[in-house]
Amino acid sequence: MSDSFAGSVALVTGAGSGIGAATAELLGQRGARVSLLGRRIERLHEVAKRIEAYGVETLSVPCDISAAAEVERAVSETVGRFGSLQHAVNCAGIPGSIAPLHEMAVEEWQEALAVNLSGVFFSMKYEIAAMLQRGGGSIVNISSVFADKGGPAAYSAAKHGVRGLTRSASRAYGPLGIRINEVEPGVTSTEMTAANPEGTRRLLETGLPLRRAAEPDEIAQAVVFILSGAASYVTGAHLAVDGGFLA
Ligand code: NAD
Repeated sequence: MSDSFAGSVALVTGAGSGIGAATAELLGQRGARVSLLGRRIERLHEVAKRIEAYGVETLSVPCDISAAAEVERAVSETVGRFGSLQHAVNCAGIPGSIAPLHEMAVEEWQEALAVNLSGVFFSMKYEIAAMLQRGGGSIVNISSVFADKGGPAAYSAAKHGVRGLTRSASRAYGPLGIRINEVEPGVTSTEMTAANPEGTRRLLETGLPLRRAAEPDEIAQAVVFILSGAASYVTGAHLAVDGGFLA
């Protein structure tokens, strides 16, 4: 089974930075045409430029994944440009509020769920519809170690929800040729962790076996493996890439 993406079409949400950018770059390096979705178009263009250096085409689409109509349009633009959709990585996410549950504003809860859970649902809804048209594909949803453990309330609830969605969809669409899996990163050096240095320091001091944060490319390598034909018998699974945090 091949780990090449030559000639295939891949879509990545949250592709303007961090894990999403690293994943989009690795897919381009392996030969995929890549559709980059995110809120900040200038960041998408920067990543796209790096990917195009590998000699593959890209498409940058501004898209807020918490708005279903924007996701539908972005998937449709991708298929319109490249002809089909074979691979998708749902990476866009926000840390949300770290307030204790009883002090969390209702709006903070709703925003975290809108991006981190509904956004993944909207993404899968339109990606799967496109993949069914071509007769199969593969999807990786990015959750977190807080899909396995309690962390900040809204973030953790949403990421546990991503596991439920991934498992449910893998059962429904496996018979139709679509593999759907989850990668759960541990602490990774991105804008998200830079924005919360104190929380990051606490996580690193929990006795983390590998004693350091991951680089985004270390997460991307696992994502691209599960997305690829090299993982052709893997579906409904979750892979922790967490330096041993959950061990
Ligand atoms: P990041 O902030 O660099 O990347 C997140 C990206 O998602 C950003 O480019 C941001 O603009 C985009 N985004 C946010 N809301 C969006 C929206 N509504 N619509 C479209 N795009 C949106 O951080 P990252 O660490 O690369 O995060 C990527 C994923 O990895 C997230 O789902 C995050 O929860 C998960 N994760 C990160 C860590 C970590 O330690 N960095 C750990 C576990 C899980």
